[in-house]
Amino acid sequence: MKSIIFIAPPAAGKGTQSSRLSKEFNLEHISTGDLLREEVKKGNTELKQMMESGSLVNDDIILTILKNKLETVNDYILDGFPRNLNQAIALDEMLKQNNTKIDAVIYLDLDKETAKKRIVGRVSCPKCGNVYNTMIDGMNSKVNMICDDCKSSLVKRSDDNEETFNVRFDTYMSETAPLIEYYQNKGNLYQIDSSKNPEEVYQEIKKVLYD
Ligand code: AMP
Repeated sequence: MKSIIFIAPPAAGKGTQSSRLSKEFNLEHISTGDLLREEVKKGNTELKQMMESGSLVNDDIILTILKNKLETVNDYILDGFPRNLNQAIALDEMLKQNNTKIDAVIYLDLDKETAKKRIVGRVSCPKCGNVYNTMIDGMNSKVNMICDDCKSSLVKRSDDNEETFNVRFDTYMSETAPLIEYYQNKGNLYQIDSSKNPEEVYQEIKKVLYD
């Protein structure tokens, strides 16, 4: 598998799963959320406000960032893109120009209440991208707020609060969920129940991708 997409509601584990998959199979992990957070760190306050509100950032911004990134990689996982139909069609166009296509779309299915619980405890490593949860057994780091792998201090995202979560979930339902049917019609979508523990979900993903 050379190009993989993740479609998932907030907190379904797309960051965790794509980070692990990218390491095991040597795929570039492209998280549009992370790319945008880098822009925010450079001082883009307009972007910061948009992200903190929980709504999607403008398609033109994200498409420019992604196009630049895709030009530098071969085998990759897209984590957080596409988020709406317009982005999915733009991606198809970009790939067609390079004579490539999406090999598999992993749809991580999760109900709203479980997603909300996960959001409240989520923390991540700013250096290596690992994601942990301080409120769910088996998902916390070994030492509280320290990354198991690179020992950096973990951080909590400013948009991981209940109010923003509700907007993000509603945005997901109205903008992103229609992509499920879009990729189902193309025949390359795999649905995975992501209410299970992260290890089980990971094994299922590997099975559908590589067995
Ligand atoms: P994520 O880390 O994927 O949950 O993304 C965090 C936030 O970044 C989202 O709530 C959006 O505001 C923004 N974002 C990330 N990816 C996209 C995208 N493909 N299109 C528009 N906005 C995005």
